[in-house]
Amino acid sequence: MWKNVGYYNGEIGPLEEMKVPMNDRALYFGDGIYEATCVANRVPFAIEDHLDRMYNSLRLLEIPFKMEREQVKAELQKVIDAAEDSPIHFLYWQVSRGVAPRNHVFPGGEVEPALMAYVKPHTMKPMDVPYKLISLEDNRFKLCNIKTLNLIPSVLANQRAAEAGCDEAVLHRGSRVTECAHSNISILKDGVLRTAPTDELILPGITRKHLLALAKEHGIPVLEEPFSMVELMNADEIIVTSSSALCMMVESIDGIPVGGKDPQHIQLLQDAYLAKFQQETAK
Ligand code: PLP
Repeated sequence: MWKNVGYYNGEIGPLEEMKVPMNDRALYFGDGIYEATCVANRVPFAIEDHLDRMYNSLRLLEIPFKMEREQVKAELQKVIDAAEDSPIHFLYWQVSRGVAPRNHVFPGGEVEPALMAYVKPHTMKPMDVPYKLISLEDNRFKLCNIKTLNLIPSVLANQRAAEAGCDEAVLHRGSRVTECAHSNISILKDGVLRTAPTDELILPGITRKHLLALAKEHGIPVLEEPFSMVELMNADEIIVTSSSALCMMVESIDGIPVGGKDPQHIQLLQDAYLAKFQQETAK
């Protein structure tokens, strides 16, 4: 058992000591896709949703990953089971197009995609401590619906947020809000939950999907329509969702106070989300 566990194509060991082949296409091109979720009681949360999205990203990038879903689950479980106890673990995995000499064109069919994973202890942020955001122009490419390893615009956006003492960066294309650097964003206005539709401008977040389903279950109407920066600033509440932090409320954007006008609905959604997480990861 190790505190941080690494996995590469069947090999498991302490994360800090694992090595990957220099010709893995993830290193040169970010040529691969990834997934991540929290784990409690050694049960990865919403694993089926994450695997659905994983196979969809692979299909869209034409990566011929042959491993069946049950086998992927079994490999990931080995990594989870090799980790020392922790109340919550974070599970990350990625599939690259494989190991081949650098060439933009896909390698031949004999090259197998490479599966990499790690598990580390994780602390979830308390959902009653609101996020501070900065806003930035969304300068990413238009394949945001694919969870690719190409994350430089998000890395730079998060760095700008950290430098400003903030938790996340909300991105917009012109006036239209898309999502955050590594989270989706939704608003509550007049009792309606509104979030951008799942087109090529946003990642179809698993937490976003669950949030919408929970809202409907609790009688909160849902609108999947884009909203503007002005609508964001005037929202009753703002909710930032991601697998690592679940549902966070927001108290400021670019230093300007926002939200805080519909505490009942936000509390209801956060409680419902946490209950779902706890139920589905129970022993
Ligand atoms: N949007 C982007 C760009 C992300 O990178 C992520 C998560 O990494 C999300 C949204 C949230 O997705 P999920 O809820 O599946 O973690």
